[in-house]
Amino acid sequence: MSLISLSISELQAQFRSKAVSPVEALEALEARIQAVDGEIAGYLNRDYAAALKAAQNADVNLPLGGVPIAIKDLINVKGESCTCASKILQGYRAPYDATVITRLKAAGAIPFGRTNMDEFAMGSSTENSAFAITRNPWDTDRIPGGSSGGSAAVVAADEAFASLGSDTGGSIRQPAALCGCVGLKPSYGRVSRFGLVAFASSLDQIGPFSKTVRDSALILNAISGHDPMDSTCLNEPVPDFTAKLGRDLKGVRLGMPKEYFVSGTDPQVDQAVRAAIKQYESLGAEIVEISLPHTQHAVAVYYIIATAEASANLARFDGVRYGHRTAEASNILEHYGRTREEGFGPEVKRRIILGTYVLSSGYYDAYYLRAQKVRTLIRQDFARAFEKVDAIICPTSPEAAFKVGDRSEDPLRMYLADIFTIAVNLAGICGISLPCGFAQVEGKPLPVGLQLIGKPFAEAELLQIAHAYEQSTNWHKARPVIG
Ligand code: GLN
Repeated sequence: MSLISLSISELQAQFRSKAVSPVEALEALEARIQAVDGEIAGYLNRDYAAALKAAQNADVNLPLGGVPIAIKDLINVKGESCTCASKILQGYRAPYDATVITRLKAAGAIPFGRTNMDEFAMGSSTENSAFAITRNPWDTDRIPGGSSGGSAAVVAADEAFASLGSDTGGSIRQPAALCGCVGLKPSYGRVSRFGLVAFASSLDQIGPFSKTVRDSALILNAISGHDPMDSTCLNEPVPDFTAKLGRDLKGVRLGMPKEYFVSGTDPQVDQAVRAAIKQYESLGAEIVEISLPHTQHAVAVYYIIATAEASANLARFDGVRYGHRTAEASNILEHYGRTREEGFGPEVKRRIILGTYVLSSGYYDAYYLRAQKVRTLIRQDFARAFEKVDAIICPTSPEAAFKVGDRSEDPLRMYLADIFTIAVNLAGICGISLPCGFAQVEGKPLPVGLQLIGKPFAEAELLQIAHAYEQSTNWHKARPVIG
């Protein structure tokens, strides 16, 4: 296998035996990016000189020593751009490192490259970026998913060994599914959000994209844990997330939610996921039918809570403190209005308007408060299910990657892309997507993702269950033909 296709674990073995140096790995990566990123547009920019310096000084005995990791363009890396793929933050440079970056660096990793995304992480296709549309490496006429589409595409196209993204309603798991890589959303409070530009603060979590389940565990090891800079980051013990990998599945119970196996899911996706469930049975897991009765309300609840929080969080972009400032204002109100009109794209404006509406007096109780109550019911659905099962198994996305432009005019249809991922964020629990097959669409194979949902703070068990399946199949070894 070529150098750029290696998993982190394999790359580290090469580093430690001195067969390959971190500088050589970075050079190979840069050559690959130059060869294929014109077609993929996964990166917004990268600082090769800075990464090279870090690679020259890398200590390969550290847990992620010398490993370059691509970063979604909404996580602050000191001195680098952090645009959130928005015109309003064009030219902005991060004044500090996010906690996840401080920790990656302490583990020896090299943050390398800023990946494209939907503006402020609002979207499911990466078409809402103000700068570029990222393409799916399996079929460049199609979207990579979103909002972390860049982070998923660069891993799938071997333009990165791994990357970080953020997941508010599915933005790690859905693009991982559509691009055919592993994507992990940790439990709420597992990973510090300090230095992550906030979309919906009660839902956002940072997590890894990788080529293997083990690599996601390695990255989670590095970035997890209490942080006094984020009061929602819990002071829970951080286990070694690789510790349970390789254990068998005897006695493991997996729940199949009946609400997630309904018509509306693409038949090829449904088939691939059912085949994965069979495979789990043959590995010794017990499959149990469960019910998550409030599932039908998840999308509606999410689009009230997420937009409400976004409207408050995005108030800080006022042209005074950050990024873009209008040239044409004669008074302060006009200054705010014009700056935001010029700086934000249409989807972000739609969300701010929706969020402001649901929070306004007279509507607050009918929408926001009611949504919070239903959120509690959704959380209870999962708590009840987890009395019976160790993890939940279902599709990540109801369909494989769709064509660029196919959904842009229909926001509601776009919102349904996250129908299987959103409830996990509302409940604050963890979820992972991993490759489980292909749909053949117009003569091309398009990846299908399997979602496993775990109990709060049970990432070690979730990774164990994911790893057992991965190791019994070859799906994670498939690569798109590109370049
Ligand atoms: N697609 C969902 C949205 O548009 C989720 C995005 C995310 O997880 N950041 O809000």
